[in-house]
Amino acid sequence: MTALSNIIKKQIKRFGPMPVSEYMTLCLLHPEHGYYTNRDALGATGDFTTAPEISQMFGELIGLSIAQSWIDQEMPTPFILAELGPGNGTLMADILRATKSVPNFHASMDLHLIEASPEMRKRQETALNGFNVTWLNYFSELPQKPLFLIANEFFDCLPIKQYRRTDEGWQEQMIAVENEQLHFILGTATSEEVFSKTNDVPSADMLEVSPPTVAFASAIGEHIQGNGGCAIIVDYGEWDSDGDSLQALKDHRKIDPLTHCGTADLTAHVSFKDLTNAASKYAKVSSTIPQGILLERLGITQRAQTLAKNMSGKKLENHISAHKRLTHPDEMGSLFKAIAIIPENTDLPAGFNE
Ligand code: SAH
Repeated sequence: MTALSNIIKKQIKRFGPMPVSEYMTLCLLHPEHGYYTNRDALGATGDFTTAPEISQMFGELIGLSIAQSWIDQEMPTPFILAELGPGNGTLMADILRATKSVPNFHASMDLHLIEASPEMRKRQETALNGFNVTWLNYFSELPQKPLFLIANEFFDCLPIKQYRRTDEGWQEQMIAVENEQLHFILGTATSEEVFSKTNDVPSADMLEVSPPTVAFASAIGEHIQGNGGCAIIVDYGEWDSDGDSLQALKDHRKIDPLTHCGTADLTAHVSFKDLTNAASKYAKVSSTIPQGILLERLGITQRAQTLAKNMSGKKLENHISAHKRLTHPDEMGSLFKAIAIIPENTDLPAGFNE
């Protein structure tokens, strides 16, 4: 039983059953015991591995697509280069290395990282040593300037609410305590927000909505439409909510999401439909593209061959399997998806055009 489990149980005993969204927020970002607050979460020794931790090619290709979009939008100066939830800072380091030779890109950029965890900020500082970085707690703190933004595996850790279809209608799934153990129960409330969504998914018996996902996507769309720029969002999920996707990972293995509070990663699948609908109220949004197809369009095969020329033995084997892991439909190639957000009447960034 972790220290955080006891805190959560006390809170439930005091105030009653807790929505899944509040549970996720406490588990991930509790100021003392939250998973991201004090963990070495990512990479081979952590609990999960993200695309930039698998291969430098991911960040290089995404970085060049972002830089091309900056050139297509007539190289606004100064501009904000920003990342949401940069983890170890590997993705931004790869983006910066790949864009070093793009004339004036680095000279014009003002680098901002939106990161909630002090421990993660330390890692990012080490990875981006030599760059002038501004850390922010909130997206709304970004200066009103053209924004070139990347978010990889950020939206999957934003809190979700879950609703189950029962004979009573849609009931919110909550977390309660019984015999000192956390377990799921159904609450009575059914909100209007869920009703509108259910019209589209008549057969689902579980619905997930992530209010912060909608809020972030709206804010990104509004900022980009008003100031110019481009956002590339990559994450795992489906077009629409697809049943119960709350998942806990510890040491690269799935575990019960109600155990190991604060010591396991907790995520849910991202609804690209919700992202798209929210951002497209303000700006233009690309279609949702599988990660494998995006990386192929951006030239991962050629890049992989170039890098392979200087490799042999185990290093070459790892490189070949990393390429496959990022792109193959049975690995990350189709579960992971991407969208781009740009101002209306602007061309989509490389890789996103139909
Ligand atoms: N983008 C990284 C890793 C993502 S892990 C990669 O591709 O490797 C999620 C990151 O988002 C962590 O750095 C975590 O501390 C941060 N984070 C989670 N919720 C956040 C929030 N609400 N606001 C800001 N940062 C958050």
